[in-house]
Amino acid sequence: MKPVELINISKSYDQEQHVLKEINLTIEKGEFFVLVGPSGSGKSTLLRMIAGLEAITDGKLKFNGKLVNHLPPKDRDLSMVFQNYALYPHLNVEQNILFGLRAKKIAEDEQKRRLMQTTEMLGLSDFLKRKPKELSGGQRQRVALARSIVSESPLCLMDEPLSNLDAKLRAQMRMEIKRIQKKLDLTMIYVTHDQVEAMTMGDRIMVLNDGVIQQVGEPIELNNAPTNLFVASFIGSPK
Ligand code: ADP
Ligand code: MG
Repeated sequence: MKPVELINISKSYDQEQHVLKEINLTIEKGEFFVLVGPSGSGKSTLLRMIAGLEAITDGKLKFNGKLVNHLPPKDRDLSMVFQNYALYPHLNVEQNILFGLRAKKIAEDEQKRRLMQTTEMLGLSDFLKRKPKELSGGQRQRVALARSIVSESPLCLMDEPLSNLDAKLRAQMRMEIKRIQKKLDLTMIYVTHDQVEAMTMGDRIMVLNDGVIQQVGEPIELNNAPTNLFVASFIGSPK
């Protein structure tokens, strides 16, 4: 049984038709799957459909063999990290991280255990009482990551989580995210428009352009045997 399967998925908005066209894709358990493509190619739309934040126009979405097209987001056992982190400004780091667990009424001592473990892993232990505005960009990004990790969801979706960071921090956080993903054996679907990020992080990569899959493969396959000119130039050209 595969954690995530997309079968002939298409998406149209009222104002914009055919944003995604017949997407077929199977994600393996524990794999770091990267969705890469230029701005406007449909990456966020696809991720939001998997999260249940966007309706599916056509096709089937399955989790572990079960059809989930109409399952509400809260009942999908997944976590999501957004580009802008979406932290609550009036809550401190600890409250931000535990927000979802409190909503789910997870027992206090279990919350504490997860909080300790996660903040230690991400180097946030000294910042628990700070508000988001008292943190650097990198620390805020770590809080968003921590909030997703504490959910202990086996499936994690990330939409350009590093795009607000400077180059040095971005490189460091790539390693960090990879390390945690492997350690916790998470199934990851990671969206980026940055081909370097895609090539360094992905076990497999899907290249999307204009809502159409161009190629799916391991980094080395995309590099050595691009299926078309778009993939060759997109993967080949540095940012
Ligand atoms: P990406 O994340 O790859 O930049 P998006 O998924 O955000 O791409 O957008 C893909 C296309 O769908 C774009 O042309 C965008 O304008 C359009 N689009 C995205 N969201 C909406 C929406 N809510 N309503 C109408 N069109 C949208
Ligand atoms: Mg996007």
